Amino acid sequence: MSYAERPPPVTTDYDTAGFWAAASEKKLAVRTCSDCGQSLHMPKAYCHSCGGWETEWKVVPPTATLYTWTTTERELRAGFKPPYTIVCVEVDEAPGVRMVGYLPGRPHLKVGMAMHARFEPTADGTLLPQWYPTP
Ligand SMILES: [Zn+2]
Repeated sequence: MSYAERPPPVTTDYDTAGFWAAASEKKLAVRTCSDCGQSLHMPKAYCHSCGGWETEWKVVPPTATLYTWTTTERELRAGFKPPYTIVCVEVDEAPGVRMVGYLPGRPHLKVGMAMHARFEPTADGTLLPQWYPTP
């Protein structure tokens, strides 16, 4: 399926720009509190754990564990031709951080299975991490 019909991600937002900058280099980054090390996802400018305002982007391995998924059999939005599967993964090196991804079709999945990110270009060239089962 082509990404041409899908809206491109917003990559210039203050809170998420670092994620997209890392993705442009095929790296996965998680905003992290500089004071206590808490992963901050969705990315925020402050830490909900210690209240600190110093944050940084920590590059982590693009590996995760499958948390859950759902398969869609009807077309709900242009650019996403059914059937397709939306996965939710927990990033291995960032406890508590869950990310979503798109897989075409009805892949054979199992909760707890190893997943990894591939960085795929969208219509505007932005590299988007997509999560796939690790063979
Ligand atoms: Zn903190």
